[in-house]
Amino acid sequence: MTSSGPLHPDNPRIRSLARMKLRAGRLPAHVPAQVIAGPGDGQACAVCDAPVVRTEVLYEVDCGGSRTLALHLSCHDAWQFECRRGARESSPKRRPTR
Ligand SMILES: [Zn+2]
Repeated sequence: MTSSGPLHPDNPRIRSLARMKLRAGRLPAHVPAQVIAGPGDGQACAVCDAPVVRTEVLYEVDCGGSRTLALHLSCHDAWQFECRRGARESSPKRRPTR
């Protein structure tokens, strides 16, 4: 079996990197309006900093303005996972009302 790289959707390292960059403000903490998927072209991934090579899927995220982010498929998934989790954590805790 050939591997397209060390990345894996459930890679905890990728998830912790995504979380770290979210906290540092280097990644937007919301789901982007537009995501374009295509073949990688060697751009550095916004999460893991490794280039997205041609054998991998490149996710290009439009962050508004002229800012776009390049991400691996698995890094994008990890980032979105942490976005949703972060949004849930930072929202005021809702207690069940009786
Ligand atoms: Zn990546």
